[in-house]
Order: sequence, then C-alpha cells, then structure tokens
Amino acid sequence: MRLGELGEFKLIDRIKQQAGLNPDVIRGIGDDAAELKIPAGHHLLTSTDLLIEEVHFRFAWTDGERLGRKAVAVNLSDLAAMGATPRFLYLGLSCPADSELERVEGLLRGVLAECERFGVSLVGGDTCCSPGPWILSVVVEGSAPDGRSVGRNGGRPDDLLMVSGTLGDSALGLSLLQKGKVVPPLLLQRHLAPTPRVALGQALASAGLASAMIDISDGLAADLGHLLRAGRLDAELDLASLPLSTEFAGQYRSNPSLIDLALHGGEDYELLFSVAEDAAPTVERLAAELAVPVSRIGRLKAGSGAIDLREADGQLHPVTADGFDHFASRVGDQP
Ligand SMILES: [Mg+2]
Repeated sequence: MRLGELGEFKLIDRIKQQAGLNPDVIRGIGDDAAELKIPAGHHLLTSTDLLIEEVHFRFAWTDGERLGRKAVAVNLSDLAAMGATPRFLYLGLSCPADSELERVEGLLRGVLAECERFGVSLVGGDTCCSPGPWILSVVVEGSAPDGRSVGRNGGRPDDLLMVSGTLGDSALGLSLLQKGKVVPPLLLQRHLAPTPRVALGQALASAGLASAMIDISDGLAADLGHLLRAGRLDAELDLASLPLSTEFAGQYRSNPSLIDLALHGGEDYELLFSVAEDAAPTVERLAAELAVPVSRIGRLKAGSGAIDLREADGQLHPVTADGFDHFASRVGDQP
C-alpha cells in the first residue's frame, strides 16, 4: 500500500494510537498544541535536527525503522550534551505520496521504540507531501534542575578533556559503505544506529562534574573547537589516548591516514567534556557504573581555540578544527 492511499489524517490517527500516554502529557497529538508538564524547579531545554534523504541517509543503506531510531537518537544526543533529562519529542515528516506505507510505519516504529527506550513521549509534529526527498525534522525537549545544565563555555585552564566511547567508527562505516566494501557490524551499527549517551550526560551534570560539554556530531576537532572558542581556551590532545574500537584500530594499523576519521569524521554522538583533574577518578567510577567507557584524551589551557596533537614522536602538531560543514560540502558527501 502507498501512503497516498491511506491519506494524511488516517496516518496521524495511526501515529496517535501508537504514541501512548504519559502523565506529563496533558494534551498531546490531536490538539492544536501540546500542553506539557515539567518538574518544579526545572528549566526547559530544546533542540532540533533535520535529516534529509541523500544528505544524511540513503534507503539503499538503511530502512525506515533504523532511520526512525537514528532521527531520535541524534536529537537526544544534543540534550545529553547539556545534561538534560529528555521528555518530549515532535516529529515532522515530509515524504512523497507514493512512499511505501511499510516504510512509513517502520519509521514510526523506530521513532517510538527509541522514545520508549529513553522515557520520551511523542507529543506532536506535522506531516506533508514531499515533491522529492524524504525530510525528517525532529524537535526534542527535556529538562534539567535550575543551575545544573552544562554548556560549552565552562571549561577552565588545566581541566582534563575526556570523551565517552570510541572515535571514528561511524565515519569509517560510512566510508566503507560509500566504497561498496564489507562493513564490520559494529561500524555499521555506529553509523546507522548510534546510542546517545543520555545517562552519562545526566549523571555528569547532576553531580556537577563536567565544567563544559558537547556531543560529537561534526567530528572531534570541530566540536572541540566549539568548546574551546566558547571558553577562550586551547587544547592539547594526546594521539595515543584517543579511544579506538578494535574494528577501527584493525584498519588503522594498515592505514594510518584513518586517524583523520577519528579526528574529523562526524556522527560519533559521543560526549566530549572537561573536568577538574581531581574529579576525573569520580567521573571514571561513575561511568563504570553506567557501563560507558570514558577516556582522558588531553588537557585545556588558556588560549583562543587552537588544538595541538601530541603525536608518536612526542612533538606537538597543530590540528585544524574543521569537521563536516553542510554549506562547504557537496550534497551526498556526509554525514
Ligand atoms: Mg550537538
């Protein structure tokens, strides 16, 4: 069946039936606006991301369900980077009228499954016929206790830089897909179905451990650059400390230029944060309790946004803070 045969209002009815109810949702899908509650003493945090077919995803490589999961995950990653608790989500979907209904329903299944995983309610959105590509627009809202959210600008000279998980897997997975090569399952999963570090972000924020934090969507160097400029800082990174997965490291050994993907590849959706040196052991204990690996990768110093990388020769080499830039790149390149 094609979407055009079902029609917009029946589609919205189906979404409403599956969206479920949460006590914080006073009015959700089906009214002119959502009416929602957040806990007393909390502030509202909001973020949004667009995903466009042939720019961010290809149906040759993914399906509706995985796409739905990723659309939610990349948005939740931004809330995680602020230390917020995710609560509500809005989905804007534009797709051609001749889209397979199964693909649309798969997308919805993925969106709802990822929402449920993180305790988030789908409370509204919009649907529209697209003359061309699929376009997904997601808005997420979360909350954090007053004074507990973490911005990009709080880093201090001598703070340690830490990162969760591993770097470069998603970019390497995408690069192998683009070349039509076999992609190891972990790299594929890291590209098509990333896990936002929601619990870690919340834990770092509520314990007041992270002085600055950002999620890595445009690449380590680019997102570190944002954090440095916001805090008027420079950073020194240690090449040997950059966390790499076994799959990435295996390919890196035979092709050292792949380190560029760990430094500049996008879509890791890991958390990059700074902590006072004496707080680092507490962070490591807390991350171990959450079963999230974290690594110390460098240090901040006063400055103006420069990044130096200590390489195997012991010398410092400058790293440009470039990453993926949508307006500087050709459509279809990445991410
Ligand atoms: Mg972000």
